[in-house]
Amino acid sequence: MKDIVINTPLQKSTVHCGDGTFEKYAPGLPKKKLFVVTDSNVFAWYRQEIWRIFGDNVPVYIIPAGETSKNMRYLTAILREMLNHGMMRNCTVVAFGGGVVGDIAGLAASLYMRGVHLVQIPTTLLAQVDSSVGGKTAIDFDGVKNVIGSFYQPEEVIADPRFLKTLPDREIRCGLGEIIKYGALDGTIYNLLIQNIGNLRSHGFLEEITYHCIKHKADVVTEDEHDLNGRRKTLNLGHTTGHALELCYGKKSHGECVLIGMYYELYIAVKLNICGKSYAERLKALITAVIKKIPYYDDIANAAELARFDKKNIDSDVSLIVPESEGRSAEIKLPMDKYVELLVECSALLKEGK
Ligand code: ADP
Ligand code: ZN
Repeated sequence: MKDIVINTPLQKSTVHCGDGTFEKYAPGLPKKKLFVVTDSNVFAWYRQEIWRIFGDNVPVYIIPAGETSKNMRYLTAILREMLNHGMMRNCTVVAFGGGVVGDIAGLAASLYMRGVHLVQIPTTLLAQVDSSVGGKTAIDFDGVKNVIGSFYQPEEVIADPRFLKTLPDREIRCGLGEIIKYGALDGTIYNLLIQNIGNLRSHGFLEEITYHCIKHKADVVTEDEHDLNGRRKTLNLGHTTGHALELCYGKKSHGECVLIGMYYELYIAVKLNICGKSYAERLKALITAVIKKIPYYDDIANAAELARFDKKNIDSDVSLIVPESEGRSAEIKLPMDKYVELLVECSALLKEGK
């Protein structure tokens, strides 16, 4: 068990990482004033735990599992339930679930009575290594993802790998996608990944790597809480193409799309002599340890069009964060037609099985 402290100008946040942290820290939360938000799957797995640790009478709001619940209707419903239960300013919202629960419960906590205490207990690998740390909250609105939200730091995050034991493999792959992204940004994480390439799903490895990923993110967030000065932008490595593929094809999880995006962007970085070939090959081996066959897309130009709207772009060029060398990344800007050309080239090679 280890703690990571995030000190931002507005708030201090402590992340408890490792096996046993749930048993150790969750019972210490102020029982009378808790309001738990979870989803239907997590509740089905862990209802006994919720009642055992927080008491049988704890108010629990259960949203249906899945991204489509991250909307205004459920945000309103959570706020209404909080009011009906007489929650006051000194109450604590406990977000017990994956990224969806974390996002909507975090937003509710930031709005209710102008902000109440928030504790995140992330139960997916993705939420543990990424979304529960950093204070971004949001819902989707009018078909636009994460467009209504706030920056609101949880006071505590309890990242206990025990919850990963019930996670479907698709969700493990999703989290590994984001973890491999961290590997391209951080030499320590890269080395751990390379040493454990045949063992990425083991419990002990996931516990260790989660700590390092959270540490990395905590350092970045401390420097750039509101995503303003560029450091936080590096966390978008693989995401420009990854998001575009996610939006266009939508079958694979977010983390898997990030990995596929990273693979295509590595091809671009090597072609432009930004990333060395042998380092790129080692990163590709990590990617294919999670996704055996990287897909090709005959109509990838359509997906590329969606990359136009990536938030990093400031003009008509496409901005990418790409691996450069171990622990280093670079931002590159490419004219749209060059970007499309290189994606098409990479896709064609994949189609030929190269
Ligand atoms: P993410 O955390 O990937 O952003 P979600 O919050 O939608 O996304 O979680 C992904 C899926 O995993 C959801 O169906 C959710 O109900 C389920 N889930 C979350 N935590 C667990 C867990 N510990 N065990 C089993 N299923 C879980
Ligand atoms: Zn991501």
